[in-house]
Amino acid sequence: MSILNSKFGLIYSQLKVWFGKKELEIPNIEILPGIFLVMPVSSNFDTNFRTNCIVIGTPGEEALIIDPSPFNDTEYKNFLSIIIRIGKTNSFKFSYIVITHSHGDHHKNAPRFAKELSIPLIMSQYTLERITKKKGINYFDGNVIHIVNDGDDINIGKGNFIKVYNIPGHDEGQIGLAPENMQWFIVGDLIESNRTVVIGGEEGNMTKYFHSLERVIALSPQWIIPSHGSPLKSVDFLVKTLTHRRERENQVKNLFLEGQTPEEIVKSIYRGTDKRLWPLALENVKAHLKKLKDEGSVKFE
Ligand SMILES: [Zn+2]
Repeated sequence: MSILNSKFGLIYSQLKVWFGKKELEIPNIEILPGIFLVMPVSSNFDTNFRTNCIVIGTPGEEALIIDPSPFNDTEYKNFLSIIIRIGKTNSFKFSYIVITHSHGDHHKNAPRFAKELSIPLIMSQYTLERITKKKGINYFDGNVIHIVNDGDDINIGKGNFIKVYNIPGHDEGQIGLAPENMQWFIVGDLIESNRTVVIGGEEGNMTKYFHSLERVIALSPQWIIPSHGSPLKSVDFLVKTLTHRRERENQVKNLFLEGQTPEEIVKSIYRGTDKRLWPLALENVKAHLKKLKDEGSVKFE
């Protein structure tokens, strides 16, 4: 009987594939009352790579959509249907799309999505400039864009506001969002719950990264909601990340003072790590060295 059942199951799922009805539901969950995570695939290079799109709203009132970034057409269509379903179920009036920072896995297809819903996009001035520099001046053609600054409030209905916080370091223009009662804090890529964040390139700055971690830790929100991975209770993980970064910085400093080049430092520290990750590790090492140089702890040209 069980064999028959499983055979039937196999044939049934195969039929669904043949007739194009294979379920392609994108993972989604309500993590706190009125806060939903929808997790589309957001990278062309790794089909396991997902970005949390966060929907926040008050039933019957305004709602925000943060970092919608489905990577291709099929993912976009499935994503759109889930957002519409969440909107209907909760009687949300979608008012804005927020882009936390300039990296592609946070805004792929967001301009198209904003036009489809006829709502404006919100981002920092740096994020707008950085994206149009990378993607071209026409990237946001047909979109309405609102620029926000640190301390600005965004209305989410029934007298509820969430505040904008500048949290640079991973990306110069990155913004976080949190309500006044600090029940949660949306941190973008300040941390990822299952990977180390890269700090480097033109938009990265390790000194600012440390300050941003310290800033959110001091605010002590109950929940941290990152863009990749699951939400985290309390700021413990941020404290751990900061401690780890300080230790790493000490290691980098000592090896540099022993005469090692950044490339040699990567080899020393990340010996046991997948070599494909070394270029990213090199970014982090260079960012630590720049911070140490700015503080006067090391000298180099
Ligand atoms: Zn990023």
